[in-house]
Amino acid sequence: MLETIYKELILDHYRKPRNKAPLVGPTVAVSMRNPLCGDEVELMLRIGDDRIADARFGGQGCSISQASVSMMTETLKGRTLDEALELEGKFLALMRGEEEPKRDKALGDLRALEGVSKLPVRIKCALLGWNALDEAVKAYRRSDEGLMGKKLEFEDLTSLPEGFDPAEHKDDLPG
Ligand code: ZN
Repeated sequence: MLETIYKELILDHYRKPRNKAPLVGPTVAVSMRNPLCGDEVELMLRIGDDRIADARFGGQGCSISQASVSMMTETLKGRTLDEALELEGKFLALMRGEEEPKRDKALGDLRALEGVSKLPVRIKCALLGWNALDEAVKAYRRSDEGLMGKKLEFEDLTSLPEGFDPAEHKDDLPG
């Protein structure tokens, strides 16, 4: 279903995740769970002057969820929060199957996930880290202080597209 070269890039991030390490004293940390697939992501950000100085994660789950968040942390470092949200918008467009983000270099390795747009049940997996980012930015902007050391936990309960049976899509990808 996915292009071979893209599939290999996804598996490379899954097997050798980038930035998968604890971040001591993160500005904000958000845990996000996808109950459907059992994926878990904890996103930890260090933010200074409205810019993401460091982005790391922990978690476990399918190859799509873990590769996506690994790729995401790579693209986030050094970005302002506005730029990070702009990237999120581009990635959402990629998941909707739009053409433009497929050629957008700003997305880096994340473009390897374009084929996921054809696997609706896996889109939730690919978006897990981004949903964590979204909550992290919201939480950070809600309060400039008092977030230090506070861990926020979420369960991603957004509904699946109607008529999709997760069991049918289990074998789409390894992991
Ligand atoms: Zn998953």
